[in-house]
Amino acid sequence: MAPKDNHPPTTEMQALDAAHHIHPFSDTAQMRAKGARVITQADGCWLTDSEGKRILDGMAGLWCVNIGYGRHELAEVAARQMQQLPFYNTFFMTTHPPAVALSAKLAQIAPGDKNRVFYAGSGSEANDTNIRLVRHYWALMGKPNKRTIIARKNGYHGSTMGAASLGGMAGMHAQGGMPIPDIVHIDQPHWWAEGGDHSPEEFGRIRAAQLDQMIDQLGQDNVGAFIAEPVQGAGGVIVPPETYWPEISRICRERDILLIADEVICGFGRTGNWFGSQTYDIDPDIMTIAKGLSSGYQPIGGSIIRESVAQVIEDGGEFNHGYTYSSHPVAAAVALENIRILEEEGIVDRVRDHTGPYLKKKWSSLADHPMVGEARMVGMMGALELTPDAPARAAFANEGTVGLMTRDRCFANGLVMRHVGDKMIISPPLTIADSEIDTLVELAWKSLDEGMATAKAEGAFTA
Ligand SMILES: *Cc1c(COP(=O)(O)O)cnc(C)c1O
Repeated sequence: MAPKDNHPPTTEMQALDAAHHIHPFSDTAQMRAKGARVITQADGCWLTDSEGKRILDGMAGLWCVNIGYGRHELAEVAARQMQQLPFYNTFFMTTHPPAVALSAKLAQIAPGDKNRVFYAGSGSEANDTNIRLVRHYWALMGKPNKRTIIARKNGYHGSTMGAASLGGMAGMHAQGGMPIPDIVHIDQPHWWAEGGDHSPEEFGRIRAAQLDQMIDQLGQDNVGAFIAEPVQGAGGVIVPPETYWPEISRICRERDILLIADEVICGFGRTGNWFGSQTYDIDPDIMTIAKGLSSGYQPIGGSIIRESVAQVIEDGGEFNHGYTYSSHPVAAAVALENIRILEEEGIVDRVRDHTGPYLKKKWSSLADHPMVGEARMVGMMGALELTPDAPARAAFANEGTVGLMTRDRCFANGLVMRHVGDKMIISPPLTIADSEIDTLVELAWKSLDEGMATAKAEGAFTA
C-alpha cells in the first residue's frame, strides 16, 4: 500500500491549486469557496481523498476506469514499456511492437469488417480525425461536396473545436464560436423529456426521421456522415427507443452517408458487449474509441474504420494528418493489457450476464423514490430523472438546481454520482461487486431523500 499521507496538507494543496490551476468544466468561484476536493489514491471502486475519506466511485472516474483502480499489471506493463521504448512515433512509415499488437487486437474484437485503426491521444482528437477522414474519403470518391456532418443536440463528442462542434451542447457552443461550418444538429431521441404524448416507439421513429429530413434539406450530395453515441452518455444517459437505431441505420445506408458510432463510453464492455454498436445492432463505418480502451490508465483514443472506407484513404496517397502521440507506445501497451484483462477475466460477458442485470434490478428500485420519474439502465450506465411530478413527467422550474443539491448530498454520503441538469447518472467500474452495488443504491436512496428535503426547504421543489 502507498502511504496515505505522502502529500502536503489539504488546505495547502487547495490554495496552490486555486492559485495556478484552471480546471475543466468547473465554476472557479464556487470551487474556491469550497476548496477543490483532492483525491490521492484509489483501489477497486473506491477513491480516497486527502483527508482519508473513502468514496464509492459510481462514475468510474469519467466513465473510463472499466476494470477498476489498482490493477498493478497495467503499471508493470507501463514501466516495462517506458524502459524499453518510452516514445517513438508512427509517422513517416515507422511502427513499433505495441502499435502492431494493439491494432491487430482491436481489429479482432471490433465487429465485422472494421479492421483498421487510426490513433489519437483522446476521444476528442479521434473525433477531429473523423471529420478529416469523412471529408477526405468523399473527396477521394470524387464527391468533395459531401462535407457536412449531421450530429445531434445534447450529444457529446469531446472538447476540441471539431469535437465540440459535433457535440450538441449549447453551453459549449456559446463559448468560442461553434459549431464550425458544415456541422448541423438534429434532435435527440430523449423520450422522457421530449416525447410528449407519443409512445417511445413512435417517438424513436419521429426523431430518426429528422435525419432523412435534414438530408433532404441539405441535399444528399452535400452530406458526408451522421455521428451519434449508441447511448448518449454525458447528455444524461439518454437511452434511445428500440425503433430509433434500425431507422437511423437504414437511412444512412439508403442515403449513402457514412455512419460514425461514438463508442468512447459505450465501448469496451459498458453496455454488456464489447461495443454499443453490437448491443443496438448497428454497423457503423467508423467507431470512435477512448476511455475504456485503456480503462483511463493512459490517455489514448482512436478511430476504428471499415476496411472498404480505409482502403479509399490508403489508396489516396498520404493522409496529411497525425498526432505526435498517435499510437504512443506506453499508452498502446497499457491498452493492450487492459483488453487482455477484460478478455481473460470474462468481464464483458459478466456485465451482460450478471453484473448488468443485477445493477439494473437494484437501480430500478430507485424508481419508487417520490422524486424519481424514471430509472433507466443499459449495461452499466444508468440515469434517474428527478421530477416534482412523475406522472406528468414534469421538469423542475429551475433546471439543474435539485440535481446539484442531490449531487452534493451524494458526495457528503461518500458516493460519486454525477448530475446532468436534473438527471442523476452512474457508470461504475464494470468490476463492481454485488455488495458494492447494494451500497451504491442505498447511498443513492439516502442522498435522494436528503436532496429532496433540501429542495423543499429551499423552495426549489416546484415544476
Ligand atoms: C468523453 C467523450 C469524448 C471525448 O473524449 P476525451 O478523451 O475527453 O477527449 C468523446 N465522445 C464521447 C461519447 C465521450 O463520452
